[in-house]
Amino acid sequence: MKPFEYSFVIKKGGEEVQVIPVEFVCSISAKSIKITPNLAKQIVKVSYPFFVSRSRAVAFLESKKDWVATQLEKVPDKIIIDDGVEISLLGKKYKISHIPNARRGVWCEGEYIFVSGNREFLNRRVKDFIKNEVKNYFTSKVKFYANILNVDFGKISVKDTTSRWGSCASNGNLSFSWRLAFAPLFVIDYIVAHEVAHLAELNHSYRFWRVVKNIYEGDVDKAQKWLSRNGLTLYAIN
Ligand SMILES: [Zn+2]
Repeated sequence: MKPFEYSFVIKKGGEEVQVIPVEFVCSISAKSIKITPNLAKQIVKVSYPFFVSRSRAVAFLESKKDWVATQLEKVPDKIIIDDGVEISLLGKKYKISHIPNARRGVWCEGEYIFVSGNREFLNRRVKDFIKNEVKNYFTSKVKFYANILNVDFGKISVKDTTSRWGSCASNGNLSFSWRLAFAPLFVIDYIVAHEVAHLAELNHSYRFWRVVKNIYEGDVDKAQKWLSRNGLTLYAIN
């Protein structure tokens, strides 16, 4: 079976062309044909029940083509980390400024993130810097919440995942998406509080949510809404 026999092409400003593949998944649990445009992963998933033929699933997609195209238009414009570009880091706005001869690596000063060295390495170096900064933030916030709950935690790592913002393994290891670095602090804190709460309750029960609300300083609803409305923009920064 070919993985992508069907795809959508989106054009932006008449120039940038992006191919969004369609993935067909036959599912035992599916009750009807369902089209899910995953804008973060930039893929369209079509799941269909076992009693529906693949060609019918394709025909269904064909009939919804315009709707899918409209959804795909919501893919935010890419922001490439480079000299002069503005980004939000841990809730604060910074402008990236390239100083080739400074020999100081990457550092924050006032409203700037300065980067020394070759321009060709700027993007990777700033990203490494951001990943390190956000990891430090995650670590201090995990410690803070874990201390309130009096629970132990394992290794903390940052990843580039599109399926989840954070995760908590049964051995207590926590991982977070480094892209949360571009989100406001109340959103980052919510994800950390959520994962730390899993150290006490490894489920999404009523008790779990009570733990989250107990340790998180902000409004859970507000943070969740921010992520569903703006989460995608965090993937546009590269
Ligand atoms: Zn959870």
